[in-house]
Amino acid sequence: MAEGKRLIISIGQEALAGLPDGAYKILDEQALVSQHEPKTIANLEKKVFDFFTLSQVGKSFLSIQKIDDLSYVFLSSVYETSDAANCALFLYDEEDMHFKCIKTIGLDPLAVGEVKFKKEEGLFWQILNSGEPFPITDSFGNYRFESVIKKWGLDKVESQIWVPLIVKNMLVGILTMGKKRDGSTYKETELSFILQMGNQAAVALESSILDAQKERASRELAKKMENLSVLYSVSKALNFAADLKKILLFILDKARDIVGAQKASLMLLDEKSKELVVNVVRGVPPDVENKINNGEMECTRIKIGEGVAGEVVMTKKHVLVNETSKDERFKKTETSFVDSILCMPLLVNEEVIGVINLTNKQKGGKFNEDDIELLSTLAGQAAITIHNARLYHLAITDGLTQLKIHRYFQQRLEEEVIRAERYKHPLSLIISDIDHFKKFNDTYGHQQGDIVLIEVAKICRLNVRSVDIPARYGGEEFAFILPETDLAIAKSVAERIRQKVEAEEIPSKSGKLKVTISLGVSAYPQHGTDPKALIEAADKALYRAKEAGRNRVEVAS
Ligand code: GH3
Ligand code: MG
Ligand code: MG
Repeated sequence: MAEGKRLIISIGQEALAGLPDGAYKILDEQALVSQHEPKTIANLEKKVFDFFTLSQVGKSFLSIQKIDDLSYVFLSSVYETSDAANCALFLYDEEDMHFKCIKTIGLDPLAVGEVKFKKEEGLFWQILNSGEPFPITDSFGNYRFESVIKKWGLDKVESQIWVPLIVKNMLVGILTMGKKRDGSTYKETELSFILQMGNQAAVALESSILDAQKERASRELAKKMENLSVLYSVSKALNFAADLKKILLFILDKARDIVGAQKASLMLLDEKSKELVVNVVRGVPPDVENKINNGEMECTRIKIGEGVAGEVVMTKKHVLVNETSKDERFKKTETSFVDSILCMPLLVNEEVIGVINLTNKQKGGKFNEDDIELLSTLAGQAAITIHNARLYHLAITDGLTQLKIHRYFQQRLEEEVIRAERYKHPLSLIISDIDHFKKFNDTYGHQQGDIVLIEVAKICRLNVRSVDIPARYGGEEFAFILPETDLAIAKSVAERIRQKVEAEEIPSKSGKLKVTISLGVSAYPQHGTDPKALIEAADKALYRAKEAGRNRVEVAS
């Protein structure tokens, strides 16, 4: 078991060190934001009062039942929207009669440990029960309720603001937030936004708490596993974490290396179809590997119970076959490629989310017990990492259109402007708006309107590169960040999207329907050197496109 522990630590460090254009660069750029703290960016940061995000977050909460997942999505959303350097969630434990810290972001979970505190009399409790967010430190940074803080070691959560979570007049939990990443203070609007988000989460949390009491044992396990999850840290590598493919490839490479296999694949279970889908592969011809790993090519899906991988999903146990020719689960044609296979389930809370397949041990060797143990340790962490990355994705993705949410768009735009400035690279922005959409809704109904939004969003997604960032900017407004793209190209992208939308026939009860969109384009640096100016320029161009008759693209002047 000591072997296993060492492995965990080394994977953790390499996870961050081994990212050429990942975590460190982003860290570096985040530092740059706070160093320069351009006024405009800071101002934009403060305009967080975004009901759109709020309703989105509310929807995500309702779709998640597990308290652990829910806490994670809630904290991720808080972390995203509040700009807090860290945050933590305390929930009341009936049995133990303490508020326990069950989830943190931006803090070392091992350092925070099992911080908890008890309900007591006094001013502190009165304030908590008032249900309003309040600062736990004074303007000098000293704790306001020092005796309480000291008694329970609450300084470990490094908080500045406490937000009580109240359901039916009962304090069910507390959200704490640390200093803001850019050093500014929280505005009242921001706190009220977080409070509303907290209220939404609290309702969902409370009902899961009831469920969770039954599941105490499995939750304890989940927490232990999460502590091991050093691969993943939202606070350290936001963008990296958002890129599930990178995570999967990283995991797969590690898995292949530690057991020395020729070929490897990682399959995730598609919850809807209950089929295993190959997400990333290694060790096949490079052109095929690239296509599969870029999502341009899909491999055969495997049903639960089918073949070795399907069996692993069903039994939740690994399978090792060292001589496939003697095993009846292999058809003849397969044996020519596969001599030996080790297939390990990826388990989260005892549910299979996917499998790692390793085939043909290098130098003609056989997979052994050590390989199984190593791979099983890695798979344990990998599963949590993948699971968390998916939850993070959920927190930043608009449920209806599957585009990024407004808040994420703002944050990425700031990052991209800084990058463009630093490397003197071009950057463009497109804002689009559906034409006469009010009338469309009035004529065909809001539900049909939603179908249009889904279809238009799909066109947006399919007609930009993977590095571009299409987002749901508002109700029926979509915006695109196009890194490394100059004005002329951005204009042609906008024109292509306009034409595709115009050509699209949207199915409905009343036959095929059509919509058009208008688009405004702006580019760095000619139309602005900060996010606000770029947005304003694109917005104005969009307005001109509307004025000039709609269904057209206008470039900022
Ligand atoms: P214009 O050509 O000037 O853009 O006219 P418009 O009617 O589209 O005007 P505007 O962009 O101001 O209208 C936005 C409308 O979009 C209002 C609302 O009915 C509709 N809308 C916003 N969000 C949603 C949504 O989530 N679903 C649906 N179905 N409609 C939405
Ligand atoms: Mg509009
Ligand atoms: Mg419109």
